[in-house]
Amino acid sequence: MDAREQLRRYLEQRRELGESEFVLDGLSVEDAMRVLGAASGTGDWRAALKAAGATPAERSAPAVAPLAPKPSPASPPRVEAASAAPEPRPAPASEPAAPPKGSDGAPPSGLVVGTASHELFGGNQPRFNSLEEIAAAVAACTKCGLYKGALNPVPGEGNPNAEFMCVGEAPGAKEDETGRPFVGQAGQLLTKILAAINLTREDVFIGNVLKHRPPGNRNPLPDEIAACSPYLIRQIELIRPKVILALGTFAAQTLLDTKLSIGKLRGQVHRYYGVPLIVTYHPAALLRNPSWKRPTWEDVQLARRILDDARARG
Ligand code: SF4
Repeated sequence: MDAREQLRRYLEQRRELGESEFVLDGLSVEDAMRVLGAASGTGDWRAALKAAGATPAERSAPAVAPLAPKPSPASPPRVEAASAAPEPRPAPASEPAAPPKGSDGAPPSGLVVGTASHELFGGNQPRFNSLEEIAAAVAACTKCGLYKGALNPVPGEGNPNAEFMCVGEAPGAKEDETGRPFVGQAGQLLTKILAAINLTREDVFIGNVLKHRPPGNRNPLPDEIAACSPYLIRQIELIRPKVILALGTFAAQTLLDTKLSIGKLRGQVHRYYGVPLIVTYHPAALLRNPSWKRPTWEDVQLARRILDDARARG
């Protein structure tokens, strides 16, 4: 594989694990040169980096420019956090962090956002009484600039009485073309993941934090999240699912109002206004990193167990 392609994939893995910066000092010169296909032990690493298209920087600065900054979450304030410990560096992409276990073997409780009795959608926002009203409002929305470059709005779709809700980041190219969420390659994988826990797309509701596609699939910006989040929040409030599955770092961090990495957020039962929320990898990340399939399987099994428990309780 081309060295630049390897480097690009590596950086994407770091971003998917929640990192926003890549510092060359954390990678030995030998490792960096190996990634770039340079001979070991000889030559100038700066020249090797330059030949691969990167801009060498001073030792104290990141050798590769920081990736796009993580948007600050726009979800309502977290009222309780499971841990305030500083976040360790995430595990390598090929070795996802193992989900922590409770003393009784049950998944530990995670972050809590809001309270079960609180209305999710307050303030000065207009009230929407149905998912159709939200879809119509999204179609006419000009609250941020994303509508200008998008072909179609992608408000989300599925069972209005869904017990299981999937929330991703933002529409991609296929979704933009069709106006439907998760219909590209990643969407096909999501359909298979759902089938593995005996759910169909018709059983669930699938949506994104953003309802219009960011140009070039770039990361959403904080003001875009702030403008768009009320639609998702109201969708959750109207549907009242028994479980939310947050797909990927971005959706998880936005809903849980945290910057913790996905490795720290997996394997716990978070609460979003009383609704259990499980975090797993985005299907698009799974396509790039097949070694994440096993932890994803564990995550969706956990989500399924919670759904079954909630059904059993009525
Ligand atoms: S992305 Fe959201 S806030 Fe921005 S224009 Fe579309 S619907 Fe409105």
